Amino acid sequence: MSGPRPVRAPRGTELSALGWQQEAALRMLQNNLDPEVAEHPDKLVVYGGTGKAARDWRSFDAMVRTLKGLKQDETMLVQSGRPVGVMQTHEWAPRVLIANSNLVGDWANWEEFRRLEQLGLTMYGQMTAGSWIYIGTQGILQGTYETFAAVAAKKFDGTLAGTITLTAGLGGMGGAQPLAVTMNDGVAICIDVDPRAIERRIEHRYLDVKADSLEHALHLAVEARDARRPLSIGLLGNAAELLPRMLAEGAPIDIVTDQTSAHDPLAYLPVGVDFDDMASYAAKDPAGFTTRARESMARHVEAMVGFMDAGAEVFDYGNSIRGEAQLAGYDRAFAFPGFVPAYIRPLFCEGKGPFRWAALSGDPADIAKTDKAILDLFPENESLARWIKMAGERVHFQGLPARICWLGYGERDKAGERFNDMVASGELAAPLAIGRDHLDCGSVASPYRETEAMLDGSDAIADWPLLNAMVNVASGASWVSLHHGGGVGMGRSIHAGQVTVADGTKLGGEKIRRVLTNDPGMGVIRHVDAGYDIAESVADERGVRVPMREG
Ligand code: NAD
Repeated sequence: MSGPRPVRAPRGTELSALGWQQEAALRMLQNNLDPEVAEHPDKLVVYGGTGKAARDWRSFDAMVRTLKGLKQDETMLVQSGRPVGVMQTHEWAPRVLIANSNLVGDWANWEEFRRLEQLGLTMYGQMTAGSWIYIGTQGILQGTYETFAAVAAKKFDGTLAGTITLTAGLGGMGGAQPLAVTMNDGVAICIDVDPRAIERRIEHRYLDVKADSLEHALHLAVEARDARRPLSIGLLGNAAELLPRMLAEGAPIDIVTDQTSAHDPLAYLPVGVDFDDMASYAAKDPAGFTTRARESMARHVEAMVGFMDAGAEVFDYGNSIRGEAQLAGYDRAFAFPGFVPAYIRPLFCEGKGPFRWAALSGDPADIAKTDKAILDLFPENESLARWIKMAGERVHFQGLPARICWLGYGERDKAGERFNDMVASGELAAPLAIGRDHLDCGSVASPYRETEAMLDGSDAIADWPLLNAMVNVASGASWVSLHHGGGVGMGRSIHAGQVTVADGTKLGGEKIRRVLTNDPGMGVIRHVDAGYDIAESVADERGVRVPMREG
C-alpha cells in the first residue's frame, strides 16, 4: 500500500523520463507536494483549502510511473487527480491533459462534490494545485503587491506609508498579504486561527512579527504607522470575532480585505469552535459546520461593511466571502467590490496576468539569470523592474526556484523565446517550466472574481475558459488543464491552465511562441468582446485579430 511520505522533485539534468516535457510534468507534480511548497503534503493538499495535486497516493504513484515511461507521441489523461488513460497522439500534442473537479451544472455544489469525493471519484484541484504549477506563496505575491499598489494609487497618494491594513488568512495564498503590504511601505495586521500558519510566514520572511494580543497588535501597528515604517503583524484569533470587536472599539484601520478559505465553508473556522476541533467537527457534521461557518462569515463581512461605512477602503480578495455571507442572510454582503473590477481589469484587457516559470535544474542561479533577462527585455517597464529587484532580494524560494511576473500580450512570448534560447546555449543549467495561474486574463469564468461586473454582463459565460484550454492544446502546450470551482468554490467558476517547457529545442521554441502569444491573446479578445476600450486599442496596436471588427 502506498501512503504519505515526503516528496521532492529531482534536481539537475539527469532525466528519469523519456524527454524534458514529461520530466517537467513529473518534477512539477512532485514539486507541488514538496513539504516546503504544499500546505498539507501528507494529505496531498497543496493550498487553497483542500486543493490537491493527486487524488490519492496510489494515483500519485501511478502518475509518476506513467510519466517516466511516457513517449514523445503519447498523452496521459488525468481525471481529477487520477491517471485514467494513455493515448497515442503526436509530438505537438500536450503530454498531459487534465480535467479536475468538473460537475454538470445542476450538480455543481459542495454537497454533491463531497459525496462524490467520499466515493473516491473526484478531488478538488483548486487552480494550480491539480495542474502542477503552484510555486508557493510567491505565486500570488506580485498580484497582491500590484493590488495594494493600486489601492495606494487610488486612495493614498501612491503609497501605503502611514496606513494600516487589516486582513485575515495567512495560508498558501493569503500569506502573501503581509509582504505585499510592507513592499508598499504600509502596516498590516493579519489574523489567522492557525498558529502554524503564522509561524510559517515568519519563517519564510513573509511576516515580520507575531503579536501577543489584539491590544498588542494595535499598539505595534499605530507606532509603526506614525513612524511611517513598514511592519506586518500576525495575530492569532478568529476573524469573525476580532473584526467586529475592532470595529466596535474604533480601531484606526484604513484598508480591509480577507483571504481566509471562505470559498469552502468547511475550511473556515466558525466562531465558538476550537481550532483543534475543526477537522473532526467538519468531518462529523459537515452540514452543521457549514451553517455555523456561514453565520460567522456573515458577521465577518458585516464588520467589513462597517469599516467601509466608517471610510476604509474595503474589497473582497477573491475568496467568495461575500457570497457565503449572503447565503447566511446578510443583505449588504455585496456592498463592497471584488478586487478584479476595482483594480485588476485594465491589466486583463492588455492580456496581462500571473506569468511564471520554474527552474527544473533546482539552481537559484538560473532564476537570477532569467530575472536579468526580463530586465533587459523590458527596460522601459519601471514597475516590473521594481518588482523583479524586490523579488530577487526578498522572496524566499519554496521548492524548485521560480519567479512570477505579470506580463501581457506581446511580452510573454518574447520572454519565453529568450528563455528557450538561454536553455539552448547552455546559459541555464536545465530547462524551465513556463506556466501561469488560472486566475488570468482570458482563462476563467468566475462571476464573483475574475469576471465580476463585466461591461456587457457576460460574467457567467464559461465558453472562454473552454476555448482557452482548446487553443493551448492546439498551440503546443506541454500540459493543459480544465477545472471547476477553483478560487471561489463549487458552482462558481470554470477555468483553464497551461504549462509549456522551454527545453532549448527548435520545436520547443515554436511551441512557446504560439502558446505564449495565443494564451494571453485570449484575454485580449475576451475583453474586446465585452466592449473594453483598452482591449480594443491593444488588439489594434499589437495585431490581435478579432473577426467581428474586420471587414
Ligand atoms: P489556505 O487554506 O492555505 O489558508 C486559509 C487560512 O485561513 C488558513 O491559514 C486558516 O487557518 C485561516 N482561517 C480559516 N478560518 C479562519 C477564521 N475564521 N479566522 C481567521 N483565519 C481563518 O488558503 P489560501 O491558499 O491562502 O487561499 C485563501 C483564499 O483566497 C481561498 O479562498 C482562495 O481560493 C482565495 N484565493 C485568492 C486569490 C487571489 O488572487 N486573490 C488567489 C488564490 C486563492
